[in-house]
Amino acid sequence: MSQEEWVTGKIGLRINDAPVEFELTVPATPVKPQRMLPIFQAMANSFVEVGVNVAEAEGRSVSCKAGCGACCRQPVPISEVEVYQIAELVEAMDEPRRSEVLQRFQDAAEHFHKIGWYERFEEHQKKAPEMTFDEGYPEGMKLVMEYFNEGIPCPFLENESCSIHQQRPVACREYLVTSPSDNCSRPSAEGVRMVELPAKPSRGLTKLVSSFGGQLVGFPVLSRALELAQENPEDFRSRSGPEWIKEFLDKLVV
Ligand code: SF4
Repeated sequence: MSQEEWVTGKIGLRINDAPVEFELTVPATPVKPQRMLPIFQAMANSFVEVGVNVAEAEGRSVSCKAGCGACCRQPVPISEVEVYQIAELVEAMDEPRRSEVLQRFQDAAEHFHKIGWYERFEEHQKKAPEMTFDEGYPEGMKLVMEYFNEGIPCPFLENESCSIHQQRPVACREYLVTSPSDNCSRPSAEGVRMVELPAKPSRGLTKLVSSFGGQLVGFPVLSRALELAQENPEDFRSRSGPEWIKEFLDKLVV
């Protein structure tokens, strides 16, 4: 893109009664949402920073650190746009890393198909909108715990650290705890205290993409990303950068 095809502007928000300002440089011409992902990730980092500042002001500190990947055995919810970003990321890796990561994705997907987990989870997501919270939440949590208890790490987890830290999904950025890190290897609502965020950018991103050409039901799970990208060729609509930002912010507040 040439210089005149970018536009820079400032956005002012109030989060938890504190002013937060973003200066963003975004494409002026229509682009697919994948091109906007680094901007959405940077905005998500700012929301997370606000949540961390609040936790620290309360005397809590984040216990997540490199080398602790207990949470990376959960079914990580990603947005549809991240399905294609992850597929591109793996495709662009050098050998032999690419083949190693592909193998891990394949092994994880085979395992969770074999026990019918993806199928049962997809079924749950189809039913969930019709269920009350008291019906849907326990069933969803049971499935999440079943996945976790299988002990299959995220294909990007290497030496208990994230090997794609800069490009990790928005949901991974949002997942920070202030409880002892040991508790994350046996997660429960009582034992794990998360950093509360003023908004969930991962949900905003999911809603945003489903309004602009998304095809998948519910949210995809990271370990299935490559399979989903292959089975569902991407068909997103294009918008200019300012239009994507406006939609993203609108989806955060609804
Ligand atoms: S992408 Fe990184 S942070 Fe997210 S689950 Fe995988 S290894 Fe963990």
